[in-house]
Amino acid sequence: MKVDAIIFGGGAAGLWLLDELVRGGFHVVLVERDALGAGQTITTQGIVHGGMKYAITGGQDAAAGAIREMPKLWRDCIEGRRRPDLVGTRVRSDYCWMWRTRSLKSTLGMVGARAGLHSSVLKVPKADRPDVLAQCPGDVFRLDEQAIDAESFLSVLSERHAKRLVLAGDDAVEFVTSGPGNVDSVRLIGAEGVEISTGHVVFTAGAGNAALRERVGLGGEVMQRRPLHMVLLRGVLPKLFGHCIDGARTRVTATSAVDSRGRRVWQLGGQLAEDGVHMSADDLIRHAHGELKAVLPGVDLSAVEWSSYRVDRAEVTTQGGARPAGPVAKQDGNVITAWPTKLALCPPLAMLIKDLLGQPMSGDASDLRELERWRRPTVATLPWETERQWVTLDER
Ligand SMILES: Cc1cc2nc3c(=O)[nH]c(=O)nc-3n(C[C@H](O)[C@H](O)[C@H](O)COP(=O)(O)OP(=O)(O)OC[C@H]3O[C@@H](n4cnc5c(N)ncnc54)[C@H](O)[C@@H]3O)c2cc1C
Repeated sequence: MKVDAIIFGGGAAGLWLLDELVRGGFHVVLVERDALGAGQTITTQGIVHGGMKYAITGGQDAAAGAIREMPKLWRDCIEGRRRPDLVGTRVRSDYCWMWRTRSLKSTLGMVGARAGLHSSVLKVPKADRPDVLAQCPGDVFRLDEQAIDAESFLSVLSERHAKRLVLAGDDAVEFVTSGPGNVDSVRLIGAEGVEISTGHVVFTAGAGNAALRERVGLGGEVMQRRPLHMVLLRGVLPKLFGHCIDGARTRVTATSAVDSRGRRVWQLGGQLAEDGVHMSADDLIRHAHGELKAVLPGVDLSAVEWSSYRVDRAEVTTQGGARPAGPVAKQDGNVITAWPTKLALCPPLAMLIKDLLGQPMSGDASDLRELERWRRPTVATLPWETERQWVTLDER
């Protein structure tokens, strides 16, 4: 087989890129090691950021220009007005709330945020607040930022390109190189072994990128991991999407879903999940309970179960380990290593990579038949649907 590019890693970045390249006339296949989106995308909170959170936590930066456009771009794709066609992606919420604690520091943070961005941020009159925020002492704002369901998003793209997807673990992949960062072909080893010669190799494998780079003779040190310890709640809970802002930090980001047994689930991130990295699950759950009592006064948490999970954000290395300014595509020879930095930033990342690839070469889509006997990867399982320990807290 001969292709323009082989993509390794079928999370949000790899699948968005695959769609972009196929529409651009490129002959491409995607190799997934595990399940699609395993790693970050399936555990994401799914908020299509428009830059507000960045403005609060990191000031204006290079990402601000691109990220401002993302809520509209994604909305257009989800509603079928723009490519990639993401019709079928479930939208968990059309907007997010942003509320603040009462301190002066917090007020300044909000003012800074409003000055930094031009996107639509509506102050919500007290009477129009959702019940869950009714007793919050500070102002409440409404952001036009959707929260999407990662599982349906991954399904829409993977079903469209099923013929181009291959499930192959690291043992079943061999890179044929002619020097560091120069991959001539990729061998998929198995009963139906196939050698694919390729113009480019693209690594969109999230935290797997470092090891893949090493396999093609490149250094893995270009990648950093920023760990999170996320909290899950399930039970009798209201719907909630939004950020509680305290000074220059996002104290808690809460998003909701409904699990396969009809229970409401809350996923908690933000500073809470950063602080939780050095805590045991039990300590973090107790801390999260206290935080929710403080930032959502009056919300009844007596009938919920708690759990937590750890996950690393994988990004290009930065000085001091800070969040990178935007999406990154790094080229070494014919190898491109890419991280979107945010789910929301997959579209500009795909464009960056497409530009690096240049023009499509010759390619014969009919030779996809060579891959027919390979197993196809399935979509990863949402974190609250996997086996994990849930505990209750005695609120007395
Ligand atoms: C808890 C959490 C919450 C987040 N919330 C948000 C949010 O609300 N909004 C937002 O914009 N961003 C958010 N992000 C960031 C966002 O989720 C990530 O930037 C994005 O999902 C990264 O996508 P990816 O495709 O690069 O990586 P991943 O989703 O990690 O996908 C990598 C894929 O590569 C595969 N893989 C790994 N190694 C190999 C290999 N050797 N060969 C083949 N395949 C391989 C993996 O199995 C996986 O399928 C969040 C991140 C986390 C962790």
